[in-house]
Amino acid sequence: MRNVILTGDRPTGKLHVGHYVGSLRRRVELQNTGNYDDIYIMIADAQALTDNADNPEKVRQNIVEVALDYLACGLDPKVSTLFIQSMVPELTELSFYYMNLVTVSRLQRNPTVKAEIQMRNFEASIPVGFFTYPISQAADITAFKATVVPVGEDQMPMLEQTKEIVHKFNTVYGETLVEPKIMLPDNQACMRLPGIDGKAKMSKSLGNCIYLSDTEADVKKKVMSMFTDPNHLRVEDPGKVEGNPVFIYLDAFCKDEYFAEFLPDYANLDELKAHYTRGGLGDVKVKKFLNNVMQAELAPIRERRAQWEKDIPTVFDILKAGSEKAEKVAAETLAEVRRSMKINYFEDKALIKEQMEKYGN
Ligand code: ATP
Ligand code: MG
Repeated sequence: MRNVILTGDRPTGKLHVGHYVGSLRRRVELQNTGNYDDIYIMIADAQALTDNADNPEKVRQNIVEVALDYLACGLDPKVSTLFIQSMVPELTELSFYYMNLVTVSRLQRNPTVKAEIQMRNFEASIPVGFFTYPISQAADITAFKATVVPVGEDQMPMLEQTKEIVHKFNTVYGETLVEPKIMLPDNQACMRLPGIDGKAKMSKSLGNCIYLSDTEADVKKKVMSMFTDPNHLRVEDPGKVEGNPVFIYLDAFCKDEYFAEFLPDYANLDELKAHYTRGGLGDVKVKKFLNNVMQAELAPIRERRAQWEKDIPTVFDILKAGSEKAEKVAAETLAEVRRSMKINYFEDKALIKEQMEKYGN
């Protein structure tokens, strides 16, 4: 079987370090293993419009921002196909057929959608498109016969929904679609990176982000203003590392070699955590270290972004070529789907013959 990756992001803002540890970093690693036959990275503009119908300009502006963030992180357009969702209209047709395989009550049970509806105050007026976006995500994944979907933890219900649709489709219409596997980050901190305000999730919509494109000064300001343990008031006080955003970020970003480089009093993160827990280690010192770590991780990304920013026409060419390739592949899957559903009337010789016989032609 072929090894195929599909994943993507909504162009609702620039990408942040939550995206990076939750999915982007892994994508680049997987790309560089050379173990995948195809890698599709989608800018999900149609999905972004499901909750931004009245603000298409936001989505329009952020297409290029997300593409720049991809290229900055090391996604290589020669290896990975970068494309725009709405440029592949086959995805919409697939969604329309999949909608018949899913019940309203099944969609209502999706915990991520439930939380997002609450966050957006949609309770009384959910746009139908937003409510059904898990179905459109199933179309995105299956159109490319993706076997692996590297995403953050919030995407687990979407993958479950996709698997159910694949199973139902194959049972009703015959073996056609490929069942994908979710690939979650291997580190708990990366599953759902909290915001700098300590809120459960760093999210473009919550404005609690460190962006990949932030300047060195912005990153420093944000790190130094981060929430820590509220009971750790004096340096001597024992502190808590569990649930403490500064330590969660260190879990997500820190490598042992950063201690040698920036904080040689400690060999590794366990030693630093033990000291904090014991008492006698101040927040400022830990934050300064975290700032050094973040700057070391983000500097190469920022530099690569600055290079690509000078060549916007090439960024558009990459997205256009990627979208053309993606459309070809999605069209092949759609043709198979139509064949399986027997709605390929004009190439269905048996149907013409049956009808001719029925009417004595
Ligand atoms: P929006 O608020 O518009 O939904 P978002 O910040 O949640 O934006 P998405 O485009 O919905 O970003 O998510 C893209 C990918 O990044 C998904 O795989 C998602 O799981 C992952 N992701 C988003 N936020 C985080 C986070 N804080 N920690 C880990 N992974 C994340
Ligand atoms: Mg989201």
